[in-house]
Amino acid sequence: MNSKPELAIIGGSGLYQMNGLTHIETVELETPFGKPSAPVVLGDLSGKRVAFLARHGLGHTISPSEVNYRANIYALKMLGADRVISVSACGSLREDYAPGHIVIPDQIFDFTRGRARSFFEGGLVAHVGSADPVCAELSEQLYQAVVEAGGTVHRGGTFITIEGPRFSTRAESSVFRSWGMSIIGMTASPEVFLAREAEMCYAIMAHVTDYDVWHTSESPVTVEMVVRTLLANTALAQRSLEILARQLPAEKHCACDHALADAIITAPDRIHPSAREKLSLLISKYLPK
Ligand SMILES: [Zn+2]
Repeated sequence: MNSKPELAIIGGSGLYQMNGLTHIETVELETPFGKPSAPVVLGDLSGKRVAFLARHGLGHTISPSEVNYRANIYALKMLGADRVISVSACGSLREDYAPGHIVIPDQIFDFTRGRARSFFEGGLVAHVGSADPVCAELSEQLYQAVVEAGGTVHRGGTFITIEGPRFSTRAESSVFRSWGMSIIGMTASPEVFLAREAEMCYAIMAHVTDYDVWHTSESPVTVEMVVRTLLANTALAQRSLEILARQLPAEKHCACDHALADAIITAPDRIHPSAREKLSLLISKYLPK
């Protein structure tokens, strides 16, 4: 295999492949948490090695509740990636975040149920900090790239993740607005938190495709609306990622790569060998041999 990817991209609805990659290599991976949504595509983009993973699988066969988020993040970690850009569609809960715009949120509200949301289980307990759930440094670099690509982009906002797969009712949508939520989607959680547990920088490029269902002068969201807006934005997403890859500095100044330093609470001598083995990629640097 070539050198490790400097950037990983998880493509959501509408972004199923990454154009412009050269020296492509496709890898099938098996993680301790199962298979990722699709084979990971490695390739060169603007002179950097990047990894691309289609979150919903090839042909969009995996629903938001069925995505194996743990296997996806773990697979990218296995490849050595330590920066992840999540590309996703979202509905807007604010008038000024209009369809066609891009939002790079700085806060997350997890409103999902019943998804496997942590790598830590089976006798190994860890509590990672998630006050600031996305990497501010990578988010800023992504913001600059989208600006340079010519997108209308908003820096900041709260992204609520609902379970889906159905869209919201009007009552739900207006409650989320009253809570101060900015955008709404179905996949940011638990992906963002798993990336934190895996000590990877994670930033979100959310494409506003609609006004959800609260807007009185707009039609309620439909799949057709989401796909139409997203297809129009695909070129912008790819251009932004090319610019980001080109400008990505080698050094990092954030705290993402030691998120687990004070998070593991289980006494080292009580960690079962099977749990230690399963998560060795994430935890071995913190445990005595
Ligand atoms: Zn970071």
